[in-house]
Formats: sequence, C-alpha cells, structure tokens
Amino acid sequence: MPLYSSLSEKQELIRKGNLSLTVNVRDFLSRIEQIKDVNAFLAVFPEKSVESAIEIEKKIISGKHGKLAGLVVGVKDVLALKNEIMTCGSAILQNFSPVYDATSVRKLIEEDAIIIGKTNCDEFAMGSSNENSAYGNVKNPYDHSKVPGGSSGGSAVAVSAGLCDAALGTDTGGSVRQPASFCGILGLKPTYGAVSRYGLTSFASSFDSVGVFANSIEDIFAIHDVIKGFDELDSTSVVSENSYCHDESRPLRIGIPVEYFDEGLATEIRHSAERIIERLKELGQTIIEVSLPNMRFAIPAYYILTTAEASSNLSRYDGVRFGLRTEKDGLLSSLYADTRSGGFGREVKRRIMLGTYVLSKGYYDAYYQKAQKVRRIIREDFLHVFNEVDLLLTPTTPTTAFNIGEKSENPLEMYLSDIYTTSVNLAGLPALNFPAGKDQNGLPFGLQFIAPYFCEDLLIKAVQLLNSDS
Ligand code: GLN
Repeated sequence: MPLYSSLSEKQELIRKGNLSLTVNVRDFLSRIEQIKDVNAFLAVFPEKSVESAIEIEKKIISGKHGKLAGLVVGVKDVLALKNEIMTCGSAILQNFSPVYDATSVRKLIEEDAIIIGKTNCDEFAMGSSNENSAYGNVKNPYDHSKVPGGSSGGSAVAVSAGLCDAALGTDTGGSVRQPASFCGILGLKPTYGAVSRYGLTSFASSFDSVGVFANSIEDIFAIHDVIKGFDELDSTSVVSENSYCHDESRPLRIGIPVEYFDEGLATEIRHSAERIIERLKELGQTIIEVSLPNMRFAIPAYYILTTAEASSNLSRYDGVRFGLRTEKDGLLSSLYADTRSGGFGREVKRRIMLGTYVLSKGYYDAYYQKAQKVRRIIREDFLHVFNEVDLLLTPTTPTTAFNIGEKSENPLEMYLSDIYTTSVNLAGLPALNFPAGKDQNGLPFGLQFIAPYFCEDLLIKAVQLLNSDS
C-alpha cells in the first residue's frame, strides 16, 4: 500500500526524493497483474505510463508541474482516450478506437496525471453490479464472491484494491456512488453539466455525468476542480461556480429525508447513519428531519426516461459507423439486425426495447410524458427542502454488496438497488458517497451527502468535518 494518503503528500515525497514515481507506477502495474482475477481493467498501458512517470517526476522535482502531477488514474472504458480501444464494455465496440480524448481525460493529462489503463464496466454503463460487461464481471476486492457494484465497478475496484490513486467513472443513476459504497471508497457525482460530457459515450444524455473515485477527500476535490468547467464541445456544460452554498457564520443545516430510512434499509447501515447524525450534532451542526414525498416514483421514472434516451443514443451502432459489422448472409439488409443482435448484450437489448416502447405512438403520453412530469416534481421536492437545509444525508445503498449472480436473473430487483441514488440524477444534483462502516461480514458501505446545484464544495466540507472528528 502507498506511503502517502493524498496527492499533495505524494508530490512532497517525490520532491524530497523519498518516493520514485517510476517505482510507484511499476508497483501499481505489478499489483494489477497480481490480482488480475478481479478483472478491474480492460486495458493497461505499461510502457506509456512508465514513460510519463519518468517525465513527470522530473517536472515535480523542478517545481514546474501540473496540478495533478504524478496522480495515477484509471479511466472507465466509456470515456475516450485517443487511439486506444474504447469498448464501453460491449462486444459491439470491440475494435473501436476514438480519434480524440474526452474533455475530462484531456484535462487530467494536461495537468500531468498518468492514465494507467481503461477500467471494466457494465455494457454502455447499464447495470448495478458489473455483471453486464461483455468482457466478464468484476469482483469485489473485499470478497470475490460479491459484486463490486456498477456500472463503474472496474474504477471502484481499481481504487479500492490499490491498483491506482484515483479513477474516473460515470454516474447516470448511481454508478459512481453505488460501487464506491460497495468498495469502501469516496465517489463524487457532480452537478449535471458541471463536467463536460464530450468524449463520454452517451447512455442517457440528460442524466450522464463524469464523476471521481479516490481514497482521500482532497484528491476528490483536486480532480473535480481540474475536470469541471464549461466546454464549448458540450453545450450542456456550464461554468460551475456557486457562491451561495452556505453562510459560514452559522452551523450547517443537514436534512434527513424520512423516505430514505424505510424498511428496505439494512439495520447496520441504519445504525451507522444514526451514529453519524449524532456525531454531526455533537459537532454543533443542525439536524432537521425533512420529507421528499415523491421519492417512490424515482425508480419507475428513471427507467422510463433513461431507456427512452438510450434507445435513441444506441441507434448509432448500426454496423456502418462504429465498431463491429456482421453480415451473416452477405445481404446488406441484414447488416443492422445481425450487427445489433450479435453485438449487444441482454440488458442493453432489454433497454432498447423498453425505450422504443415508451417512445412509441400511443404510449408516449402515458409513459414518457408522464415520467417527465414526475422528474419535474422530484426536482421540485429537492428545491423545496433546500430552502430549509444546506445538505441532505442519506444512505447510498439499501444493503452491502450482494452475491455475484444473486440478482442477475431478476432485472426489477436489480433496478431496486438504485433506490437511493436515481432521484439525485433525475434532479441533476451533486452527491458524494463516503465510507461509513462495515457490516458483520466485513463488507463496506457508505452514506451520501446531497447538495444544491454546484455546491460540490459543501459536500467536500461536510466529509472533511466528519473526518476531522475521527
Ligand atoms: N444502475 C443504474 C442503471 O442500470 C445506473 C447506471 C449508471 O449510473 N450508469 O441504469
């Protein structure tokens, strides 16, 4: 395990000659090799990362380096890295290489981070357990018979198992926070639009956001600070500053939404939340019970809207423009069907069908339009409580990591594992998972803070506050 607990410490050790960045990168590479069976990486770049390490080490020593110099990062394989295969966990993109970097990835590289590899994920980021990757499932480092969470399972495992310092993931309905919870690390889902989606393969464009996994809160902050901001290549990205997040002269008002503490929540997670609430009170913060009455509609609305968007986004994989092309009988008319039938996995097909159905004439008003209205009222619920509180504290997941195979035959049960995360994406708010304890089997779980739009700083502050007490 590394000698440092944050990037600034790492840079200090390198500067003083107490740590060699090259050795550090080689250590990560050999650990990746050693525990290969967790299947966290789909591609590793040994030569390139060692080359970068040599160069960046010199920069750190000379004091002329980028903000993230020496940070070793894994990137979820739905984000483009120029000239490297990007599969999105799908067979349909098995031979596809993008010709540009995603903006978030480019910004990391420009600040001297080292990209060590591309991480495994559920196909097109659809899933909650990382069992939907065409390249095999990912295993939870705490117990190899358990799932790591999904869809950014590879990124979460890479950070949790010490295979890199930090990782990028994406969160459409919980895919950063849920695996972060199952793997015992920090995971930030930023405000929708805070980080550019350019170069991120679209799943549900009005939900997708690029988030960060790390072990230290400073690193989460440093990385988010680098990747955020307006990008002219993504018209939904915005300048993400908000100076009205919290009046420093009074304690934080933290809302506890009653709907998140229902009977589906595991007792150990409930008890841990209660302990943390007590601690926040001891630290002088104000705790207020609040209600988000329409929370129960979040899962149905999320699965209607995201499948609708996915069915449209995924129509581009037709065997002509990207990746795989299959023509079994040599006739052009079968090219679309053969490519898509062979290239997409079961969950992706299920979602394309669901999405096509809810958008079809005669059902559009009943499903798609209705779900849009539900989305609006969920957003209004949040806006309403944020008149009263600065932040919300909730569980991230109802349970700890479940067994591999346990829910894979039952999509509805699988979808319910996102019960505490999807509402945040429907509203487009930022949220941060932080480790909050372990169950009796030693499996970790987290809780999440949810903040108003562009108040990522407040999430970080809240976690720092809790850390300062421990
Ligand atoms: N588990 C959710 C889904 O399957 C969320 C996925 C995500 O955030 N990418 O859609």
